[in-house]
Amino acid sequence: MSFDINAIRKDFPVLQRQVYNRPLVYLDNGATTQKPLPVINCVNDYHVLKNSSIHRGIHFLSEQATEDYENARKTVQQFIHAAHPHEIIFTPGTTASINGVAFSFGEKYVNEGDEIIVTEMEHHANIVPWQMLCERKKALLRVIPFSDSGLLRTEELDSLITPRTRLIAVIHVSNTLGTLNPVEEIIRKAHAFNIPVLVDGAQSIQHIPIDVQKMDCDFFVFSGHKVYGPTGTGVLYGKEKWLEELPPFQGGGDMVDIVTFAKTTYNVLPFKFEAGTPNYIGAIALAEALRYVSSLGLDSIADHEHQLLEYGSEKLNKLGFITLYGTARPKSSIISFLVNGVHPYDAGMVMDKMGIAVRTGTHCAQPVMQHYGIGGTIRASLALYNTAGEIDAFIEAVKKVKTMFG
Ligand code: PLP
Repeated sequence: MSFDINAIRKDFPVLQRQVYNRPLVYLDNGATTQKPLPVINCVNDYHVLKNSSIHRGIHFLSEQATEDYENARKTVQQFIHAAHPHEIIFTPGTTASINGVAFSFGEKYVNEGDEIIVTEMEHHANIVPWQMLCERKKALLRVIPFSDSGLLRTEELDSLITPRTRLIAVIHVSNTLGTLNPVEEIIRKAHAFNIPVLVDGAQSIQHIPIDVQKMDCDFFVFSGHKVYGPTGTGVLYGKEKWLEELPPFQGGGDMVDIVTFAKTTYNVLPFKFEAGTPNYIGAIALAEALRYVSSLGLDSIADHEHQLLEYGSEKLNKLGFITLYGTARPKSSIISFLVNGVHPYDAGMVMDKMGIAVRTGTHCAQPVMQHYGIGGTIRASLALYNTAGEIDAFIEAVKKVKTMFG
C-alpha cells in the first residue's frame, strides 16, 4: 500500500479540528497518539453490540469476546514477533508493565546488596519502580550515563556490570532526546553474564519494526495509546522461561487454578499475570491499531517520519536562536529544543494559541534535564500523520515566540 498522507489523515477525525480558529497541528505524539477510525469504531461497536466479560461465560457474547481478546493477543504476538501468544500479557500500560516486572522479579531474584542497572535517559516509569525495589530489598541502582549529544555510553557497561547485577532496564527510544539506543549490544553484553534485560518500547513500538526474538530481550513493554490504540492498554512481553519462573504481581480472579484458605495455585500463562477483568475492549482495539499500522507498513512510517525529523531539525537549526537537545544519530521522531533566552512554558503557550500542540517541561525524565542543567525543553514529537506543511507552521510559531520574548 502506498503512503498516501492525505488519505491517512482522513482516518483521524481529530486532525480536521481547528483550535483557536487555526488548524490543529498535533506534535505531542510522544505523550499520546491520535486514534484512527478503525480503533474508534472498534471501541464503539463493542460497547453497542458486543459487550460481555471474557473467560467466564458460556453464552454467545462472552465466547465471542473471549475469542476476540485471545486473537488480539495473537495480533500483538505477530506484531512484535514473539515466539508464543502466552508470552503476551495485557496490562494497563508501560508503567504497569514495568512495575509488574520490578515487583515479581524483585521478589524472587533481588536481595540485599544486589544491583539493577538503568540508563541516565530513562523515563521516570523505568526509574522509580526499580528504586522502590531497591529500597525494599536494600539493593543498589547503577546508571549508564549518556554523552551531551545524547548517545548512551555503553562502554561504561563493562565496569557497571558486577557479579551482583541482577537486571538491566533500558529505554529503546528516548522520549526526551529521541536517541535510538543500541539495545542489541546491551543485551549481548548482559547475556554474556546471564543478566536479563527489560526494554522500554514506549517510544519505539510506533516508529520501528520490533522483533523481540531477534533483539533477544527478556522483557519488552509498551503502551497502547502511544501506538494509535486506546488508553489504559499495554503489553508486557516476557520470554516464556521468565514468565514461568516469576510469581504473579497481582492476585484475584482469573489468575488462579484452585483457591482454598490453606493455599492457592495459579493459572497457566498468560492468565497467571492477568488478575481481574481486563480491559478486553481496549486490548481488542489495540489489535485493531496494530493492524492499521501494519497495513501502512512500519518501514514506510519510519521513512516518512525520518524525513520530517530531518526537515524540522534542519529548519530549526537554521533559525540561529535554538538549542537542540539530542543531536546524536540514530534517532527517531523527537525534537527537543529551547528557544534561547525564552522559558519553554512561555514558548508552549504562544505556540498553543497558534494551533501548535507541543509539550514543554521535563517529559517525565528529570535526570535528563539535570544532565544539561536546564529546567525543561520544548518537545515536538512526530507521528505517521504529520506533514511537512505542519512542520512549516511549527517553525513559524517558533519564530513568533522569538519575536515576542527574544
Ligand atoms: N516510558 C517511556 C519511554 C515513555 O515515553 C512513557 C510515556 O511517556 C512511559 C514509559 C510511560 O508510559 P505510560 O504513561 O503509558 O504508562
